[in-house]
Amino acid sequence: TETCLVAIEAAGALNAWCHKTPEKAREMAAAADKRIAAGDAPAMCGIPLGIKDLFCTRDVPSQAASRILDGFLPQYESTVTQNLWDAGAVMLGKLSMDEFAMGSSNESACYGPVVNPWKVDDRQLTPGGSSGGSAAAVAADLCLAATGTDTGGSIRQPAAFTGTVGLKPTYGRVSRWGVIAFASSLDQAGPMTKTVRDAAIMLGAMASVDAKDSTSAERAVPDYEAALTGDIRGRRIGIPREYRMEGMSDEIDALWHKAAEMLRDAGAEVVDITLPHTKYALPAYYVIAPAEASSNLARYDGVRYGRRARLGAGDGVVEMYEKTRAEGFGPEVQRRVMIGTYVLSAGFYDAYYNRARKVRALIKRDFDQVFADGIDAILTPATPSAAFGLGEMSGKDPVEMYLNDVFTVTVNLAGLPGISVPVGLDRQGLPLGMQLIGRPWDEGGLLNLAQSLE
Ligand code: GLN
Repeated sequence: TETCLVAIEAAGALNAWCHKTPEKAREMAAAADKRIAAGDAPAMCGIPLGIKDLFCTRDVPSQAASRILDGFLPQYESTVTQNLWDAGAVMLGKLSMDEFAMGSSNESACYGPVVNPWKVDDRQLTPGGSSGGSAAAVAADLCLAATGTDTGGSIRQPAAFTGTVGLKPTYGRVSRWGVIAFASSLDQAGPMTKTVRDAAIMLGAMASVDAKDSTSAERAVPDYEAALTGDIRGRRIGIPREYRMEGMSDEIDALWHKAAEMLRDAGAEVVDITLPHTKYALPAYYVIAPAEASSNLARYDGVRYGRRARLGAGDGVVEMYEKTRAEGFGPEVQRRVMIGTYVLSAGFYDAYYNRARKVRALIKRDFDQVFADGIDAILTPATPSAAFGLGEMSGKDPVEMYLNDVFTVTVNLAGLPGISVPVGLDRQGLPLGMQLIGRPWDEGGLLNLAQSLE
């Protein structure tokens, strides 16, 4: 904990942390020491962690990197963070992210952009997003691990951009209670770590059956570390032809081959598969996610949480909503709220939202079919490129940013577990990640396969 606290102070230029809690960290570390001395040390005892700003942490600012939650101090602790503290982990502070987890570059945070610890010459790069602070902090050794959340790729893409491991569990494996909601049918929290083994240990501590989240699954939490047998002989890995996108860089393609080779060398069987509805995933996601977001974000009204705009004489309740939301939400969040309310509106509901839901069912069915045919996991790139430059996307069509999620959103739409593992470097020396997608609830099997790629 002390080593991390020193490193955090030295790494201020990365801008990864939005709220530091050194006193709390020292207290928690001292308590962990006592537990260790008493011979009662659970798996995460004394492990210093960073927590994404999306998690509500009692009496510690939790504002989803949004100005609209300025001054909000939760009176409760999210289930995931409570589980981690119960397992002995130590909180170093809160980590920056894209505002309300909307984005792929961490540039929409109200705290300013996070800088990727990896760079090319002196060019500053994004750590990805939305869990960019988490990824940067883990990559720069400012914490041993961090929590992330993933609605369409926000754990896996920043992990790929920073050479770290990021796991999105099966929908329902980890409680969403106390995690500020973006798109409730897609959101899932997960570990961001240095190694696959760390991800296994941390997932075990984060996961629980939670009566406070109606979508939390009633399934006992297995011992994920015990699943890391190293034996993957006979496992069947699918390579989906639809993920071989036009214009994909030869470096990503070469890495994909290398990863397939690594799995084959370890005794797995690698076969070609088809997921025919893949090309509809991104459009369906960018209808469903904003629709749910527009509904979830309706609660920020200047009354219940955080900030209220300064009002003029004669301003009524409508002006209060309008002014508060206009100054509290950044441009990307406003765009999503507008898209969401549009696709849910009476005249367009069937054409957009209902359609997207049908497409989602087809995407899910593609995966069901492949798993029914005996495939254990699917291997794809995690991102279409390595980390891009800070500011590189500004002024461009927002859809360019959305294209970053092309390999990751299918997993959220189908509710499956997915992991990004660093497998190599591109010719500029930047990390690239490969993604493994697993059967529902088979995080153990997925982590075991992922270890063969390390
Ligand atoms: N980049 C995607 C989006 O902006 C995914 C974000 C996420 O997973 N939270 O919606």
